[in-house]
Amino acid sequence: MLFKTHILLGILFFLLLRNYFSEGSTILFFLLILLGSILPDIDEKHSRINKWFGIVGSIVAFFAKHRGFFHSLLFHGIIFFAISYFFNTYYAWALLLGYTAHIVGDGITPMGVQLFYPFSQFKIRGPIKTGGFWEGIIMIVLIIVIIKQFW
Ligand SMILES: [Zn+2]
Repeated sequence: MLFKTHILLGILFFLLLRNYFSEGSTILFFLLILLGSILPDIDEKHSRINKWFGIVGSIVAFFAKHRGFFHSLLFHGIIFFAISYFFNTYYAWALLLGYTAHIVGDGITPMGVQLFYPFSQFKIRGPIKTGGFWEGIIMIVLIIVIIKQFW
């Protein structure tokens, strides 16, 4: 999925789920969901998040296969437990929810996502081509649903 679609999905996840999480800063929670919703694409050298990470992004993209480890439940599980342990479970959830939003987006594309990488080849996939007509439709629907949350 495109950067914009991932951001829209992140915003939607925040609006739908924020009421279940209330033990910290809502703004920080929101920003972490957005970060989680674009972070997996650090493994793709042309992505925005990869460029934002500079040299770290270049190293990640060089060594990691796109939609491999950085799109896996393993990577995000490690991050979740690390943040919970060293910082705060509330913010760990924000990043994990953002990640889930990302996987929903990539999981409906033909390329799919190997959620259980590197343990299994199993892929979640769908028929929506990245940057194609139907992704455009999905973006419009997401914008409408997001706006409706404020009515
Ligand atoms: Zn991705």
